[in-house]
Amino acid sequence: MRTWQAPEIPQLPGPQDGRRDPVVVHDSTTRGLVEAAPAESARLYACGITPYDATHLGHANTYLAFDLLQRAWLDAGKAVTYVSNVTDVDDPLLERADATGVDWRDLAAEQTQLFREDMTALRMLPPATWTGAVESVPAVVEAVQALLEAGAAYRVPVEPGAGGDAPELGDVYADLTADADFGRVSGFDTATMTALFAERGGDPQRDGKKSPLDPLLWRRERAGEPAWDGGSLGTGRPGWHIECAVIARDGLGLPFDVQGGGADLLFPHHEMSTSHDRLLSGRGADGAPRVHVHAGLIAYQGAKMSKSLGNLVLVSRLREAGEEPAAIRLALLAHHYRTEWEWTDADLEGARQRLARWRAAAESSGPAAGQPGTVLAAVRRALAHDLDAPAALAAVDAWAADPASDDTELVVATVDALLGVRL
Ligand code: ZN
Repeated sequence: MRTWQAPEIPQLPGPQDGRRDPVVVHDSTTRGLVEAAPAESARLYACGITPYDATHLGHANTYLAFDLLQRAWLDAGKAVTYVSNVTDVDDPLLERADATGVDWRDLAAEQTQLFREDMTALRMLPPATWTGAVESVPAVVEAVQALLEAGAAYRVPVEPGAGGDAPELGDVYADLTADADFGRVSGFDTATMTALFAERGGDPQRDGKKSPLDPLLWRRERAGEPAWDGGSLGTGRPGWHIECAVIARDGLGLPFDVQGGGADLLFPHHEMSTSHDRLLSGRGADGAPRVHVHAGLIAYQGAKMSKSLGNLVLVSRLREAGEEPAAIRLALLAHHYRTEWEWTDADLEGARQRLARWRAAAESSGPAAGQPGTVLAAVRRALAHDLDAPAALAAVDAWAADPASDDTELVVATVDALLGVRL
């Protein structure tokens, strides 16, 4: 898919003493801090949106975390490859299109365009490869055929009337017993996994499955649903987890450094897609993403912001109301990406005031009496330590209270390059 215009990033001088903290992030599997990308290159996959109700602040908060990670990597001189997807055909999208009487393709295209505009306004770095589920169909078909041939997948009979011209082919599910490492990403016990699977779009009750947790790889054609040629699989469409596994494999290669998303993706989505990665790579545990990073979910009006509850604050609505995207960005940056917090109007008001203070400080001229580069070093250190944006903002706040303490131009470039905020 066409992405969006990349923001310009000013080049920053290297550390004065030549020493740099490695960028560490919290890994959901080990529940500890690990170096995000130890090699010279850094490869990131962040799960994309299903294009309806885009882009709410929960999405923006998640993509902002991975934007900071890339900015920290780029500043450290790494070659960064970022890949993402758009789940532009999926049950919830089709349900929304049905409920509102809109063609699902029009809904997906319109919401994907809105997402592009929001990401551009928020100065988010675009992915190098941005693949839609629809675009991924041929690659998914080939991958599912390979899993079937390897005995790592099986067919489940479909109900009468389903399956188009070849109903005997059935839906295809992954056989999780083929992956000895299944469950390692989340570390959850079976009861927890089963409960979350049912809650988050899985189908533990489906008849004919070998195990309740086995995930869907290929859904055969159903009346009234879009379907694509699946070769020997028969007409149908991809499951969600295999979609991300295949897009990540083709865009980054396996294994890659960081798989990211919102906290609700840890299970089942990342557990399942990582299981697929192990099998598709042919390398078992060595084919899995090294680190799994999850952003906290934001609440609004007393509950987690979610499409099903409808308590969404949309970036596009804030922009329409005249809110400056830099203020939206700062409002999110004031909270560490892993925390769960509740959005209120005070968040935006605080961000507007902070932006005004920083801009006033940038306007006040005069020679730096203090130590030039103090803010840059502090912001670098903060981001390298699990993307600690609140600590980075505190360092810029300290300068804004005493603008002569650092070199103005360097601070402005630091805030632009590392925090994505133009003063
Ligand atoms: Zn995904």
